[in-house]
Amino acid sequence: MISTSKAISLIESNTHRLGSVTIPVNYSLGYVLTESPKSEINLPPFDQSAMDGYAVRFHETDTFKVIGEIKAGDDASKISLNKGEAVKIFTGGMCPLGCDAVCRIEDIDENNDQITIRVLPKTGTNIRQMGEQIRKGDSFLPNGLILNPAAIGLLANTGVNEVNVVKKPVISIISTGNELVDSATAEKLQPGKIFESNGIMLKTALEMYGHNSINKVHLEDQYELVLEGLKHQLSISDVLIISGGISVGDYDFVGEALLEIGVEQVFYKVNQKPGKPLFFGTKSNKLIFALPGNPAAALTCFYIYVLPALNKLMGKGFLELDRISGKLSAAINKPNSREQFLKVNYLNGGVEILDGQSSAMLRSYAETNALVHLPENSTFDSEEEVTVILL
Ligand code: AMP
Ligand code: MG
Repeated sequence: MISTSKAISLIESNTHRLGSVTIPVNYSLGYVLTESPKSEINLPPFDQSAMDGYAVRFHETDTFKVIGEIKAGDDASKISLNKGEAVKIFTGGMCPLGCDAVCRIEDIDENNDQITIRVLPKTGTNIRQMGEQIRKGDSFLPNGLILNPAAIGLLANTGVNEVNVVKKPVISIISTGNELVDSATAEKLQPGKIFESNGIMLKTALEMYGHNSINKVHLEDQYELVLEGLKHQLSISDVLIISGGISVGDYDFVGEALLEIGVEQVFYKVNQKPGKPLFFGTKSNKLIFALPGNPAAALTCFYIYVLPALNKLMGKGFLELDRISGKLSAAINKPNSREQFLKVNYLNGGVEILDGQSSAMLRSYAETNALVHLPENSTFDSEEEVTVILL
């Protein structure tokens, strides 16, 4: 049985970035740039007023003749100012030719078609110069950037409609078990059955991290069905996230079926609680995670192992959840021979271990904002520092 850190490093070294693809900017949130986009326009595209006020051409005195008005959106390319002339202009408006500065409305006395400026500004004041943000033909936004709302806004601003990015993986979530029933479609829970949780839980976890190509299926505990189901999902996906059927029971067929369809086992079993029977394998560059069926164990394995691998596939590097240190509010006296991930409440540097740590229970998980990671065979005093993994 390997340690959690060995498991993490094996996953990292067996995970390779996916190829790149051109996609519309509209759908690019969370993708990673593989090529710096080029702007076909200057930004701003013309000298632009940054204020509501008057665009002026300086002369000897502080009094100017008003010759017109330019609203945002007006074409002012034919309007030009002679010395001593001004136009009323609004924020975002195109500055007229010959304009030296834009004076704020607050600094001006208006008198019919004459204005007097109380404080004369310096040349260039309140003018956003053509191309001051981005010059036509320039590359902007670095390769490797994760596209966020600001980046997407900027791309739209420069008229870029498509970007080259790393693909996001197609992911299959496969729940196994005869006992599982989908509460969204089942009328009533029959004896011996349970409502399924892992499928929807893992799907929403993936959605939270920006994944959008997700197949969700359920397989009964019959060898042929598991074999065919896994084979098909592997043929259409980059990543399989299987839950259940990977332990040592007579009806746990996942491990055997994976080997039969040619998945190479990288490891099976990690010295951890929860989640000991975790399997990780590859086929070509596809990743196969078989998580334990117990819901809390499945979710912890998702956060610790699956999530960083997905980040690496999509070009973000092997990004794990943030780890910080926190102080225990109470001692942990009972050592465990396995490394542990415990559900906690983390607040202002303090760590409170929650009740209900069973791997079968999601109730405390729903109120958890962090996990702590404890080494095997360890005890801790109250106030001692532990590693906190922020969710
Ligand atoms: P297994 O790993 O298949 O032995 O399952 C371990 C426990 O987790 C059993 O109590 C299963 O009923 C439960 N379990 C497995 N898969 C799911 C699931 N998708 N949703 C909720 N519970 C599950
Ligand atoms: Mg099962």
